[in-house]
Amino acid sequence: MTSAIEKLDRILRLEQEQSFRDKAVIGGLARYADTWRDQANSESHSESWVEDIAEQLQNYSGLATEAERQTSLGALRESLHSARPSGKTIENEAGPSSPPEPAPQHPPRRDEPAERRARLDTPKPQSGAADAGLDSPITVISGIGPTQSRRLARLGLRTIRDMLYFFPRRYDDFSTLKTISQLQYGEEVTIMGQITAVSTRRSKGGQSITQVVVEDGSGSVEVTWFNQPHLAKQLKPARQIVLSGRVNEFLGRLTFQSPQWEPLDRQLLHTARIVPIYPLTEGISARWLRKLMKRTVDYWSHRIPDHLPSEVRSRLDLWDLEVALRQIHFPDDMTSLETARHRLAFDELFVVQVGVLRQRQRWQSESARSIPADAAVLQRFTASLPFALTGAQERTLSEIVEDMSQERPMSRLLQGDVGSGKTVVAAAAMALTTAAGAQTALMAPTEILAEQHFRTVSYLLGSADDNGGDGPSLNASVHLLTGSTPAAEKEAIYRGLADGSIDVVVGTHALIQTGVEFDKLALAIVDEQHRFGVAQRAELRQKGFNPHMLVMTATPIPRSLALTLYGDLDLSIIDEMPPGRQPVETHVLEPTARERAYGFVHNQVKAGHQAFIICPLVEESEKIEAKAAIAEHRRLQQQVFPKLRLGLLHGRMKGEEKEEVMGRFSSGELDILVSTSVVEVGIDVPNATVMLVEGANRFGLAQLHQFRGRVGRGESASYCLLIADSSTAASEDRLKAIEATHDGFVLAETDLELRGPGEFFGTRQSGLPDLRVAGFADLRLLELARAEAKGQLEADPQLTSPELRLLVQQVDRFWSGEGDIS
Ligand code: ADP
Ligand code: MG
Repeated sequence: MTSAIEKLDRILRLEQEQSFRDKAVIGGLARYADTWRDQANSESHSESWVEDIAEQLQNYSGLATEAERQTSLGALRESLHSARPSGKTIENEAGPSSPPEPAPQHPPRRDEPAERRARLDTPKPQSGAADAGLDSPITVISGIGPTQSRRLARLGLRTIRDMLYFFPRRYDDFSTLKTISQLQYGEEVTIMGQITAVSTRRSKGGQSITQVVVEDGSGSVEVTWFNQPHLAKQLKPARQIVLSGRVNEFLGRLTFQSPQWEPLDRQLLHTARIVPIYPLTEGISARWLRKLMKRTVDYWSHRIPDHLPSEVRSRLDLWDLEVALRQIHFPDDMTSLETARHRLAFDELFVVQVGVLRQRQRWQSESARSIPADAAVLQRFTASLPFALTGAQERTLSEIVEDMSQERPMSRLLQGDVGSGKTVVAAAAMALTTAAGAQTALMAPTEILAEQHFRTVSYLLGSADDNGGDGPSLNASVHLLTGSTPAAEKEAIYRGLADGSIDVVVGTHALIQTGVEFDKLALAIVDEQHRFGVAQRAELRQKGFNPHMLVMTATPIPRSLALTLYGDLDLSIIDEMPPGRQPVETHVLEPTARERAYGFVHNQVKAGHQAFIICPLVEESEKIEAKAAIAEHRRLQQQVFPKLRLGLLHGRMKGEEKEEVMGRFSSGELDILVSTSVVEVGIDVPNATVMLVEGANRFGLAQLHQFRGRVGRGESASYCLLIADSSTAASEDRLKAIEATHDGFVLAETDLELRGPGEFFGTRQSGLPDLRVAGFADLRLLELARAEAKGQLEADPQLTSPELRLLVQQVDRFWSGEGDIS
């Protein structure tokens, strides 16, 4: 007889030859799944492998496009030919195999069937082996072959440690056990009973229906599953099973529909308990992953050493790591879950706080070059400005000046809403630094913003000739260094920075690349910080002999976030806008109002103004986003605004292309700038009066507030039109909030509350540490963690005591960027 593998292989080849029309077997691949599963199982392949392939077959027929089916078929063939472990025992094994260490003479090969590998390993490592093996690849676990490991990698699971820290997304509480006579409609419950009848039939629509009657002495109930005909082979009369799910009603009788179930003779995993629900990905089924997690957690949780000193644990009454890990995955009850989460949340916050505070301590333990607070220089600088500084600018500037005059490096965050005038304050600090004969580096997150800063700074600090004679005439030598700076110019800038002839360099990440050396860097400024990770900030520091560090952000940050992201910094806030600013009138619109919005844009342009149109956010990739923006630009130019001049800006354009478009928009050669979110930060075009944002509900409030800050920078009344994807989205509280307030802090708190920190910053490159358990809203736990961290550092500044060894390792892991998304 042809084997199940050969048979399926032939079918798949045929399917490919026939261009993925799902015609290779009668009724389609989904129908064939059960037949195949039966044969494969009778040939003693591993249950999980068979299940995996059957599931892919089942999904195949539902795929909408040929392209999807083609991809899926590729994956199927790969699965079929990758690992073919034989023997049904894999899934039921008590634990995963041991780490590879015990059998060094036979290191596991990736292409070797999991089953064989398992046999090479010794059954159990010594428990004294500490954390040996936690960083082994997940393929050391029996049952995980190359295909599954590739899929699990999509979930971020590469090592055993990753698995232990892969927490459930949520839980189904099936812990309430009821008798059948107690069932009530709508309840989530678990029952145990015996199967008394099984039947399978087809509905008119061709669906298979498996029906089972379960009895428990108090009564009986009918249970139905759709499209899982293979169940009939497992659900035999007289079998004891456990069912969990919601009680349903059909024709006046209580029933269950497609509940979770498992035989009573096993250790219960999917029913009758608080069941963890893990994030899934294609080819990974919930039941399979849950089984795998259970085995992994059972086996490995007591092999992970606790990095929290026992003194801290007992004083704060926190659970041991081992127990906390076991309980967060498979909680005994809700209280245990809470206690476990509390311990793990504390861990995360504590590690972050030890990290930021240790960093601060390190920086400040070294001496810095003092920049004298030269009143004459400051006087000359402010006098050259076309406006007077606001009170808030004066105050924050004097805080900065005071810091820089010390021989201890400044670590300060300058926070101020969009348009509050941070750049001028920073430029004043640069002026002092330049006058003192030292160097400044200003780093921005995008080329566009770097270029704009370059122009501003050149104007404010450059020679009288550079700026038409009305600038402050410091005669500073200011240069721009970005990824698109030509090689020859780059070399020249490197030389100028190294020999000290360049006073100020403005740039992007290019500034922290190897090759960049400074002669006497005394001030490092980072703008729009939230796009940079903590680690990058540290890198910029290392470029100089411990320069004074000023971080600028226009994103108002709630205290809990500030303590996490900027826990190493002192805070200066510009809480006052320059006089004469008009609030930007903001409207949230339903998609049906789009035409009216276009009409409004048209009128504003006719009146001599300019407009931004922001394309929807596409999370998948910048490439797809750019494609969408190109199409939108074409559509708007050809169909909506044929008589107007439209420009396009997106993240895939080269630096000079972006600059060219921005330049044309600034100089008024373009009426409308169609852009992706790259325009978000810092662009300054006073004649622009309309900001129209498509798909506004997909952006974070902080981001929308940034967009809005792009207009209202001149004399004329300005408008922000936010078009939502749907009328439901248009009525979201978040969007209402931005309509109602111009206070960035209020918006930040709102967004944090409603959507969480990732969304608040916009998910791409948030620079936030990856907190999986702790919420940023939990200020009390955060303060506790911070106080503890301070205490540890005060008692042992170098953290050298042996009890802290594991903690330091954990902090280093975070600090090395692993805990840092950016
Ligand atoms: P931010 O970086 O905080 O968003 P900018 O420094 O770019 O703000 O300033 C926004 C605009 O306001 C700039 O055009 C700047 O010249 C102007 N500006 C800054 N400070 C003042 C002030 N005190 N009075 C009037 N205009 C100011
Ligand atoms: Mg700015």
